[in-house]
Amino acid sequence: MAGPPGGALPTGGGLLDGGRQGETPARVDECLAQARALRATDPQQALALCRQAGEIALRLDYQGGLAWSLLQAGQCLPPGGLADATPSALMLQALSLFEGLGDRRAQAEALLALACDQARRGEQAAALAHGRRGLALRQELGDLGGQADALIRLGAVLRDMGRLADALEWLHQALDLALRAAEPVLQGQAHSHIGLVLAELGELPLGEDHHRRALALLTPAVAPAARVEALLAHAELLGRPGSASFEAAQVLLVEARQLAGTLGQAALNARVLLAQGRWRQTAGEVLAAAQLLVEALAVARRLDEPALEAEVLLALGRNRWLQGEPQAAVTLLAAALQTPSVQGADRLAAPLHELLSTLLEAQQQWREALHHYKAWDACRQRLLDQDNQRRIRQLLQQADLERVRRDAETAREQARQLGSELHAAREAERQKQALLEQLERQSELLRQLSREDGLTGLANRRWLDAQLTRERERARRYRHPLAVAMVDLDHFKRINDRCSHPVGDEVLRRVGLLLRDACRSGDIVGRYGGEEFMVVLVETPLSGAHVLCEKLRQRIAALDFTDLHPSLSRVTASIGVSGDAQDPVAADLVRRADQALYQAKATGRNRVCVLPAE
Ligand code: GH3
Ligand code: MG
Ligand code: MG
Repeated sequence: MAGPPGGALPTGGGLLDGGRQGETPARVDECLAQARALRATDPQQALALCRQAGEIALRLDYQGGLAWSLLQAGQCLPPGGLADATPSALMLQALSLFEGLGDRRAQAEALLALACDQARRGEQAAALAHGRRGLALRQELGDLGGQADALIRLGAVLRDMGRLADALEWLHQALDLALRAAEPVLQGQAHSHIGLVLAELGELPLGEDHHRRALALLTPAVAPAARVEALLAHAELLGRPGSASFEAAQVLLVEARQLAGTLGQAALNARVLLAQGRWRQTAGEVLAAAQLLVEALAVARRLDEPALEAEVLLALGRNRWLQGEPQAAVTLLAAALQTPSVQGADRLAAPLHELLSTLLEAQQQWREALHHYKAWDACRQRLLDQDNQRRIRQLLQQADLERVRRDAETAREQARQLGSELHAAREAERQKQALLEQLERQSELLRQLSREDGLTGLANRRWLDAQLTRERERARRYRHPLAVAMVDLDHFKRINDRCSHPVGDEVLRRVGLLLRDACRSGDIVGRYGGEEFMVVLVETPLSGAHVLCEKLRQRIAALDFTDLHPSLSRVTASIGVSGDAQDPVAADLVRRADQALYQAKATGRNRVCVLPAE
């Protein structure tokens, strides 16, 4: 087998014939083991060791050693590479050597390293393709833990891309595999990543639950770096504006800082600084925040970590805005958009475009503002299109189901043990009874947890409430308009009475379908209860909402139901709309929409009434 070109390693290193004294394959492996241990804390030293290992391996014609040297060297380099090598070039060379050697385990490793490198450079599609190949190899090898690891990394890429439904699905698979492999650290990492996706979906209690599990599994002794990541993830969730546990986030950040300090990993320390800066910013300590963020930015730039740099720039841009320096903010945000990691990563790009559009609009730079507004809207439509919303609901429902089932199993197991051990004792009977009651409460909980309306397949009230709260928060933060419509079918009782309940059900299904199809994919449509629907119209001023609802009303009235029942030709709806407030809380929007609906009913039905929020 032909050896790779001599210039493969970062500084080239001359080709020498034959091995030198003391140069053995074992020496190569030793260097690589040292490099692996040093990679996170001292990448330059690790790189030097890889280089040394690679040169020895080349002289010995030790192909495996050379391939690993290339791969590890690639992992030590900054994303932009050095003058004579880029991470992906080295990794691809390693990959082709591993292929030649038929080492599938190593191929998988190289493919996943390549995927991570591409993801941080903003080449998400290529990252997914390579990651999938790595995953498939690990599946062939039956490596459960390896699959979980691959799925966690890919889940993170999908989250960055804004493909939250996919991310959630893959991360749950990762969790499942990590459980089967009995790998607590991977379980903890999966929980932590799931928590991040849930937080992004506004599913805060569920996200907290996962973060807590992650922290219980990732102890400082066993997985300190993963624990820091989990602490930061949890702190971000608890440190949201308006959070009741805001102060608790600070406690987590203190622990993260201490723990990260003992590890000496510069990138991790910078992430802690970013998290602390964000927390101070939310706490209103804008100057203290600026100091931390500037420090984080310097490290991110020194390490050439574009994803981290983009996140810091976003936080700093917000900081300048809060300090009343919109022009400086625009410059920082525009710089963030230029970092390669932002391309293709909706999670990073969306808030940048959003804030830029707000700032530019305030500066009356309409054309630029519109450009960013459209870019942001495109990110958002991808995230929130109806199919995605539906898949996410279903996934969350499954996750809830799994959780309750797991808890129920534990309870049942306890009941069984009690039953056999203390068979005769009354006490056991009493405890057993208590456990059975607990099981019943859990099945009740299960019912409450469902997010989808069984009849129409639309969002149910629980999901609607959660989404409305989330949208309201967003609308308030960026001073964007938001409207809510309540749609109630007229004289619906009569339909049930005259045509039967199943006919009434079918009417509800068809009206639900119509509403979903008629609204924009980013709007949220659900069944509020009975024969009442709710539509959350994002980014929509009250006048626009009025026009849309009038169309909805007409389209409902135009539906023909004679195929269901000869005496049932038309169904009409009354609609109440509210919106356009400076700072309405979600419940107030609903209350005002309800008042408007009441007006529509009182003034003759089959009409739309509008009330601005108070
Ligand atoms: P109004 O024009 O004032 O809204 O009159 P209405 O008859 O539509 O309103 P009311 O609140 O008096 O009755 C609502 C009816 O909707 C009563 C209930 O039986 C029916 N309903 C609620 N949920 C369902 C359901 O899931 N399926 C069917 N078929 N009917 C339902
Ligand atoms: Mg009604
Ligand atoms: Mg009603």
